[in-house]
Amino acid sequence: MSAPVSAPLLQMALRVESDIFVLRQRGREVATAVGLEYQDQVRIATALSEVARDLVRTVGGADVGFYAAGVEEGRPVLRVDLAPLRPFGPDGYQPASGAVARLVDSLALTPAEGVTVIRMSRRIPANAEALTPQRLAGLRAQLAQSAPGSALDELTVQHEQLVAALDEVRSQRDELAVLNEELQETNRGVLALYNQLSAELEETNRGVVALYAELDEKSAQLRAASESKSRFLANVSHELRAPVTAVIGLARLLADSASDPLTGEQARQVGLIRSSATDLLTLVNDLLDLAKAESGRIEPDWAEVDLRVVFGQLRGTLRALATRPGVELVLEEPPPPAALRSDEALLTRVLRNLLHNGLKFTERGEVRMRAGLVDGRWRIAVSDTGIGIPPDQHERIFEEFYQVPGSASGAGAGAGTGLGLPYARRLANLLGGALGVTSEPGRGSVFTLDLPVDGA
Ligand code: ADP
Repeated sequence: MSAPVSAPLLQMALRVESDIFVLRQRGREVATAVGLEYQDQVRIATALSEVARDLVRTVGGADVGFYAAGVEEGRPVLRVDLAPLRPFGPDGYQPASGAVARLVDSLALTPAEGVTVIRMSRRIPANAEALTPQRLAGLRAQLAQSAPGSALDELTVQHEQLVAALDEVRSQRDELAVLNEELQETNRGVLALYNQLSAELEETNRGVVALYAELDEKSAQLRAASESKSRFLANVSHELRAPVTAVIGLARLLADSASDPLTGEQARQVGLIRSSATDLLTLVNDLLDLAKAESGRIEPDWAEVDLRVVFGQLRGTLRALATRPGVELVLEEPPPPAALRSDEALLTRVLRNLLHNGLKFTERGEVRMRAGLVDGRWRIAVSDTGIGIPPDQHERIFEEFYQVPGSASGAGAGAGTGLGLPYARRLANLLGGALGVTSEPGRGSVFTLDLPVDGA
């Protein structure tokens, strides 16, 4: 009949000093048998002999049982119970050497079958052979057969273990020395690298500082050039305005019925002079506006602006321009609250410009303006179903005097100056906003003006 699984693997009595050696030796045997690693075998054997010495001295010895039972943290454990011959005193049991407890996974007083035993345990590694009931029975039989050696045998083994432990310590010390050397080497390397890096950084810094100085100088020059250009444009256009206005006036006088009558050919030529001078005046006025906007001489007059009023006024003034029969001008009513902080006059000029262009470059369909709040900003879109603009010209049309090649021929109301969009974008920026375009040739364009609700 085989023993139950919980039966001890081995039992022995601990009574006199020489039993301590036997216990140590047998402890190591059991540890080997259940599959503990070499270091653990030595640990449990050492712990056993330490506790055994205490027990022989204080309570006259113990009955010792070895068990392969229970599971801790998912692994089977080797457990040793030492039942003292006499009960412990009121203070219980404390190992004479405090380090003993650290040799095993647990070491504690535990009540077992009516007595308090000292129980120590050590987990068996996962890669050890499984402790099936058959294997346990085999181990029991094997341990029962092996006879304990003498104290001298055990002493020899203990001596060998000590030598092995010393070897281990020595090799660890050598490894430590090598590691130390490597660490110092690395440190020296890091320091050299650090020095090199900080030298390079300093060098780069000097370069950056020099570059910034140059950049500052260049932008000052650029500013000065741009200011001169604006001043030049403003002066020239201002100087031109008076003579051009005079030419228009004189042409009107010549053609007046109160003046001497002109021949048909003369009247035609005077008409040409007058219309050319009128075109020139438009150009001069546009130039003057742009120069003023660029030189920063336009100060927005910030006030609460009602978009519905702006839309209403534009609807009235542009109706006269929308003369093409196939083109509808639609200004959608802005959604409430249609209010923002802006400059009404400047805003009206931008929108009129965009609507004017839309009507100019659309032969069929519609020109539509609608407003809406997007991400807390007003977005006013002027869309048309006109000739559209090729993608590579989307930015160029905001340059002064630029006109998309061929676009003037389709333009309904007059040739234009190529100054309207640059001026509109300037004003949009002055109002704290932005003006952009999306368009496809043949499909129309959408000009979008984004404006902050609370001014710049
Ligand atoms: P202008 O209209 O006086 O020529 P702008 O600066 O207003 O000057 O416009 C520049 C050019 O951009 C126009 O000549 C035209 O080629 C193009 N453009 C502007 N608006 C539109 C539009 N709605 N549809 C197609 N092309 C446009």
